[in-house]
Amino acid sequence: MKRKVLLLYTGGTIGMEKDYESGSLKAFDFSNIASRIPEISLLDCDVNLHQFSTPLDSSDVGPEHWSMMAEMIKEHYEDYSGFLILHGTDTMAYTASALSFMLKGLRKPVILTGSQLPIGDLRTDAKENLLTALYYASFYDGEEAVVQEVALYFEYKLLRGNRCIKASAENFDAFKTPNYPLLGQSGVNLEAYRNALFRPSQEEIFEVDTHICKKVFLLWIFPGMNLHALENFIQDPPIKVLILGVFGSGTFFSDKKFEDFLFQIRNCGTEIVIISQCMSGEISIGKYDNSNIFKRIGAINGRDLTVESALTKAMHLMDNPRYTEDFKSLFQKNLRGEMLN
Ligand code: ASP
Repeated sequence: MKRKVLLLYTGGTIGMEKDYESGSLKAFDFSNIASRIPEISLLDCDVNLHQFSTPLDSSDVGPEHWSMMAEMIKEHYEDYSGFLILHGTDTMAYTASALSFMLKGLRKPVILTGSQLPIGDLRTDAKENLLTALYYASFYDGEEAVVQEVALYFEYKLLRGNRCIKASAENFDAFKTPNYPLLGQSGVNLEAYRNALFRPSQEEIFEVDTHICKKVFLLWIFPGMNLHALENFIQDPPIKVLILGVFGSGTFFSDKKFEDFLFQIRNCGTEIVIISQCMSGEISIGKYDNSNIFKRIGAINGRDLTVESALTKAMHLMDNPRYTEDFKSLFQKNLRGEMLN
């Protein structure tokens, strides 16, 4: 049976070309994609194109667009074998993470890709990324999709979406999952590493829940941080979840004034989640005395979550009417392969 893939073009460098007069990059009409990459017609799958009415630089992509993408997948779920989202690379890891929480019980591939060089560039990486991502989006073992999660394909690697970070602004090899192995790799053969792939539980049916609470804030601590400036800054907006990017395996200033400040935040009912500023490894509260503060204030251990996953997970879970469990125990669960069990 010929598989069908829905290709959703949202914007980003992949859909741009150089205006040789001005020298700047501008979006080209993506409906002409087949003329740029005629090889698409040689693939063993049918590709239908949908596009955002205005292609977006991914710095403009946010919760409203995540919901649009999730709703689109819901609307067309039965009609397609897989979904490919073309997206700017700058915030692709945020979108991939958000979608992984919104799309529940997913049993079909949802792949995101983009490129570092525009499709019209002679040395572009767009063509390989797009063509192989289409392969992964239509990759089946009989009737079962090989990839049943939100994944990101870039520079010959298939990566778990909610474990990704954009690690380079220049290299073709731009994305990494420092805390998780590759899901697959494209070489002479198209490989999928079955043991690394996520599977939803048997009972779970496919559902889309686009709930997002925007009362989430990220604070990256640093030596010499001005507490006074912080107090004024943080008290104004009613924050429900504060994600705190702390040092190493979970250390924080021993200065009592900072502890009082965090207590003050907690007393306002704000949840505090701690994640590490390191690219790899996890938070280990209690390893150093300077991490015991997080036990005292009842912080949530974000373990080995990426910033992107911690933020989008908090946005999705906070005040979500679907869940009766309290935020803390829910957040600490591995829901979509985003963190250690
Ligand atoms: N600024 C672009 C974007 O994220 C970069 C890219 O696509 O690579 O939309």
